[in-house]
Amino acid sequence: MSTEAKKVMVIGGGIAGLSAARELSLNGIQVELVEKADFLGGHAIQYACKATDNCQQCGACTVESVLKDVVLDPGIRVHLASEVIKISGSPRFKVQLGRVAVSDNDDTSKICQEGYEKNPVQCAAVKGFSKHNAIYRTADGRLNPDICQTADKLEVDAIIWATGFVPFDPDQKSTYRYSELANVVSGLDLERAKRASGSVLRPSDGKPPRDIAFIQCVGSRDERLGHLWCSQVCCPYALRSAMALKHRNPDANITVFYMDIQNTGNNFTGFYQQCRNDLNFIRTIPIDMYETDDDRIRTRYMSETDGKPVDAEFDLVVLSVGIMPGNDNKALADLLQTRLTPDGFAASTDKLHLTATDQKGVFLAGTVQGPKTIADSIAHAGHAAGEVIRYLRRAS
Ligand SMILES: Cc1cc2nc3c(=O)[nH]c(=O)nc-3n(C[C@H](O)[C@H](O)[C@H](O)COP(=O)(O)OP(=O)(O)OC[C@H]3O[C@@H](n4cnc5c(N)ncnc54)[C@H](O)[C@@H]3O)c2cc1C
Ligand code: SF4
Ligand code: SF4
Repeated sequence: MSTEAKKVMVIGGGIAGLSAARELSLNGIQVELVEKADFLGGHAIQYACKATDNCQQCGACTVESVLKDVVLDPGIRVHLASEVIKISGSPRFKVQLGRVAVSDNDDTSKICQEGYEKNPVQCAAVKGFSKHNAIYRTADGRLNPDICQTADKLEVDAIIWATGFVPFDPDQKSTYRYSELANVVSGLDLERAKRASGSVLRPSDGKPPRDIAFIQCVGSRDERLGHLWCSQVCCPYALRSAMALKHRNPDANITVFYMDIQNTGNNFTGFYQQCRNDLNFIRTIPIDMYETDDDRIRTRYMSETDGKPVDAEFDLVVLSVGIMPGNDNKALADLLQTRLTPDGFAASTDKLHLTATDQKGVFLAGTVQGPKTIADSIAHAGHAAGEVIRYLRRAS
């Protein structure tokens, strides 16, 4: 039976939501894409290319190409700076959207007028990190109300829940003094800075760092925080970033503090051997950080060999933050009348049906359901779209 004239709401415009929306639209289904932020692409549109002489298959450029397709697709209506505030009815869901206040104030438009070179990171954030998001903006960087659909009420035949994750807030690990020490940054800060300016500089003085540390498992696999899961993506992104930094600056000394290394995907053995040759690996996690007079970070850790404390100094410390359940998960689970897992991710019906939920007509895509890479989020979203199409066919 035909799925034409059917309409699906996708909540969340990260790579999972974009991929699901595009797949549905290619199958003739009208999509209402509801995104809380004032740009599309979620976290992954903020990441930099990590190529050395070769592509390192980080997946970041895939997001640009899917975003481009979605932006140009007349079958997908985009509601930026919008959120779902009420859902009623079934199997045809009646949805009420609300507007989310965005930072379209004088400060943000001034940042854009002052130019990208002066404030690359902030300007990238204001512009939505990608030229493809520019379609939703006026010349001074403000959200264009004429282009972003803001219909308050929708009626849809199925829903894909794709609101993603939040990166771990490094302030919750007081040892690392993230907010106090300028040269301690998160993995996301590093990605945004590289994406905006193309290089990595010490935040305290804008000089290129020579001694760099990556600290793994920040916020993940942490019994004290009650976060027992492996985030799966922080080993791949940290090692690829480290190798890209080393490629640009062969004199850099890069140290990785770790507990275990997660497989990074294709050709892991060869890639990991190269990392072992070019980077220093220390199998322990630092216990203290201090700032020296010249803004270096003195890091104390316990020696792997004799268990005695060792101090090492770095120009820059990168905290490899992991994937945490989204802030709105509880509220959305209530609205959608479905469940969360004990960890706070959206619960699928069982391990064999990772896109289905307990609620008829509601499906999951991407990291809302648990940690995933970009490639895995795309695959999961494709599967969710397929399940929706089968569901709509059965319902017609
Ligand atoms: C620092 C860091 C670096 C990473 N680097 C890589 C890498 O190099 N390669 C790789 O493969 N993976 C990487 N990842 C993982 C990658 O970010 C995820 O795989 C990907 O972003 C998942 O996409 P998503 O759409 O599920 O979620 P998200 O990217 O989180 O997108 C979800 C979207 O939903 C929106 N949203 C949230 N709440 C609501 C709501 N209530 N209503 C409407 N919209 C809402 C958000 O604004 C967002 O746009 C990295 C992760 C981190 C933390
Ligand atoms: S390293 Fe990543 S962003 Fe760069 S070309 Fe390869 S997949 Fe694309
Ligand atoms: S991917 Fe690596 S850094 Fe991230 S939680 Fe797993 S083991 Fe730790």
